[in-house]
Amino acid sequence: MTAQVQVLISRPPGEPQSLDGFARTVAYRLAAVPGLKVTLVPHLYDLAPDGPAMQYLRGLQTDLVVLAALYPRAAFWVLDACGVRGRLGRTPSLAEEETLETLTGPHRQGPTPQRTLWCFDLRAYFDPELLVQEVLVAIGRGGLPVAAEKGTSGSQTGPAAEAAWHEIAEVTSSRWYPVIDFQQCNDCLECLNFCLFGVYGVDKADRPKVEHPEACRPGCPACARICPAGAIMFPQHGDPAIAGDPHAARQALRLDLSQVLRGLGPAELAALERARALNADPPAAPPAEPQPPQPPPSDSLSGASAPLVDLDTLVDDVDKLDL
Ligand code: SF4
Ligand code: SF4
Repeated sequence: MTAQVQVLISRPPGEPQSLDGFARTVAYRLAAVPGLKVTLVPHLYDLAPDGPAMQYLRGLQTDLVVLAALYPRAAFWVLDACGVRGRLGRTPSLAEEETLETLTGPHRQGPTPQRTLWCFDLRAYFDPELLVQEVLVAIGRGGLPVAAEKGTSGSQTGPAAEAAWHEIAEVTSSRWYPVIDFQQCNDCLECLNFCLFGVYGVDKADRPKVEHPEACRPGCPACARICPAGAIMFPQHGDPAIAGDPHAARQALRLDLSQVLRGLGPAELAALERARALNADPPAAPPAEPQPPQPPPSDSLSGASAPLVDLDTLVDDVDKLDL
């Protein structure tokens, strides 16, 4: 009997109800393969840790194929943070040394299943057939004929395939929070000390954990820049090195930024981003007392806001850099 493998297809970010033609084709093809069960969920990164989709995934013990618009490393650690664990399986976009053995240790609460998670970045493929074949090769089913259309021979088709296509409805909204790669993390806790918003905490083993993800300031990637191990990812950030691309040259990025931004190093840049996050969300001010009319400010007084303008411009420039 063929072992069952769950295929998780994550909808594109911001499109909780839609499934484009590419993903639909992949879902249909894989649902038609014996032993594969396809499940559709909203965008993986936006799922609530205790929502129905993550609860369902935590209940699975089978091997898992994850198809999401995320770098594989980011998808793996997003799931790991929510208790969906295993080892990262080999796929064409991962080097041998990037696959992870099952992580065990005092920071892992509860048993870690001895199973494999193969993570594929949907954005890296233009041909759905290529993705389907690479999935089949990864899980050891390479060469298996896949039905091209309903009614063709070779695999389950029609009602049998559609019965294997399972959808989990969950209302989501766009989220922004750090994801830790514990294979890289050295437990220095610099992230905990750096963040002013209480996002990080420590677990029973004194390892960092993202304790209050919703406290993270949208768009702020500051702690990813100060992490000495490159262990912090923001999967939705425009810079691949911060979003979890293992091939992006984080060190080169730092060097380039230092040169471009008036000699700023990553620590200074992170401090600027943190300061902007602070300024972007000031505490509510008490109602102002009525004041007599004031003369317009002189040039010298109005210049007091210049550093903030420069700060915003500087950080925006960094975000726009396509390095
Ligand atoms: S700063 Fe990076 S390496 Fe240090 S504890 Fe935080 S995630 Fe781990
Ligand atoms: S990105 Fe900024 S707000 Fe979010 S956890 Fe890091 S330092 Fe804190």
